[in-house]
Amino acid sequence: MNSIIKSNIVSKTPWKEFLKAIEKFTEIKTTKKNIYDIFNEAMAVFSELPNTIESALFTFADNEFDFELKISNPANSNNKIYELYEYLVESGNIGIALDSASIINVDLNNFRTDNSSVLVIPLRINRGINGLVLVVHKNFTEDLNQFLLRLTALFANLLGSTIENYQILQEFEESKSTLEQKIATRTLDLAQSRREIKAIFDSVLTGIVVVDLSINKIVRVNPAACLLIGLDESNIIGRQITNFFPFTDYTKFNDNDNSQKLVYYDSELIIKDGDKIEILRNTTKLKLNNRILVTESFVDVSKIKEAEKTLTEANQLLEIKVRERTEDLQIFVQKLKSEIQEREKAEIELRKMYEQQKELSELKTRFVSMVSHEFRTPLTIIKSSAQMISKFEKNISAIDKLYYLERIIKSVDNLTDLIENVVFIGQTDAKKLSLLKRDFNLNALINNLVLDFKNGVNYERNFIINLDESLAKVNSDEKLVHIILSNLLSNAAKYSSIEYDIVISGEKTENNLILSVQDYGIGIPEEEQNKIFDLFFRAGNVNTISGTGLGLTVVKESVSKLGGWIEMKSKLNCGTLFKVFIPLSKAEG
Ligand code: ADP
Repeated sequence: MNSIIKSNIVSKTPWKEFLKAIEKFTEIKTTKKNIYDIFNEAMAVFSELPNTIESALFTFADNEFDFELKISNPANSNNKIYELYEYLVESGNIGIALDSASIINVDLNNFRTDNSSVLVIPLRINRGINGLVLVVHKNFTEDLNQFLLRLTALFANLLGSTIENYQILQEFEESKSTLEQKIATRTLDLAQSRREIKAIFDSVLTGIVVVDLSINKIVRVNPAACLLIGLDESNIIGRQITNFFPFTDYTKFNDNDNSQKLVYYDSELIIKDGDKIEILRNTTKLKLNNRILVTESFVDVSKIKEAEKTLTEANQLLEIKVRERTEDLQIFVQKLKSEIQEREKAEIELRKMYEQQKELSELKTRFVSMVSHEFRTPLTIIKSSAQMISKFEKNISAIDKLYYLERIIKSVDNLTDLIENVVFIGQTDAKKLSLLKRDFNLNALINNLVLDFKNGVNYERNFIINLDESLAKVNSDEKLVHIILSNLLSNAAKYSSIEYDIVISGEKTENNLILSVQDYGIGIPEEEQNKIFDLFFRAGNVNTISGTGLGLTVVKESVSKLGGWIEMKSKLNCGTLFKVFIPLSKAEG
């Protein structure tokens, strides 16, 4: 920029040029487009002040509390002006001018050698100060100074507000264009959103119908709704909602709420030709600028409902079938259970049979071994005795002959006893044993029995007989009582040494006949005592003493046939006591 300082010569009317410059400034300021035009013009005005050497304009820097040099005159005097500005700040003159918001004149004798002074001019605006002008000058006359200073102050105010106006205008322009830009963007966005919403509205598979409640008519419908209803948009828009949705009651909506919803409920849709389809419906009320819009969105669920119905029916059918099958199964299980029970029963039977079979085969084995021994021995004795008699018929003495004959008779007796016992057992097994009760003399029976014993091999044996006289007449089965006593006596004799007595006792109580046989022989081992009444059983301590294991079985069967019972007490190597209880009939007792 060229210097606009003219000369140092004081004109006769120095304020006139200054005033003219101000006038010029006011004329053109309205058309200023650039702030620097304003600054230039302002510099031009200040250069008209008489004896001006330099001038400069500062404004407040943006967002800083410091001045920024905007223009100086002459144009190359920036450095000088800065130095001056620094001097004025440090000397406090800038502060004074700003505080008083009025022009001060500062003598520069301490700073420069050219006898100059500087006018510090604050640019005042309503809200304070927005700039500062420094004018370095020489030789202002006192009167003129006062006038010029007032004029300068006025211009400073004008300049301040011009700058402020420009700045406001500038800000306004800027914000206006930003706003316009924003509006344009929003308009574009809005148009885009509208397009998008329309695309969605048109493309969704959900039927949408919009009702304007103020006119109570349908105002919008989407293609999906048209398709479901079976009518064109033109045949739907403008009609009442109840034409299509029979169950509609918008009175449920509360007037005060701006937005309300009825979510997912089953409803019906009347379609073309008055047919109805089942729908799942969503109703939303929206208050928009005093308009109340209701949006109905819905989907066809008739097919789903149909499928549901079919499914329910199928389920029911299935349930019935399952129930039937369960019942069948229960019956089957029941059958199976009873079959298993039958089988188990059969198995038990089978096992029993097997046990019996086993027992039978064991019995058979024992019987065979018994027979082979007990039958063979007497038969051998008979045969050998008979052979002796026949062989030595002529040479045999009468005594020897008698001896052999007795042996034969004894063996035959033994065989007879044996066969009798076997037959007896056979009869009890086949339940053929008959009971024949009659009065008989038990004392006589016992005495005869003992005699028989003494006549045989036991002629050296001592028998002690303790019999109640009342036993002379008892009512029972004589044969069975005989069998019982003969077996017990035979055992007592067999299993005790000949030197020991055998005690036979008999008594009657109120109800029973009690017979006992006591010996003092080998006794029965304790662990085997419970088996001695079993068929063919023989205790381990019998050694070579011959026997069949039949006797006690016969005794037990006989006693039980008579309705009685038997007790036994035995101690190894001390002896054995058998006690038989036979019930008597009342008449007899
Ligand atoms: P057995 O023919 O062997 O005598 P029993 O049936 O009469 O058969 O007796 C069964 C078993 O009981 C005998 O083998 C014997 O072991 C035992 N027994 C019976 N009576 C007596 C007794 N008085 N003293 C010792 N043991 C006896």
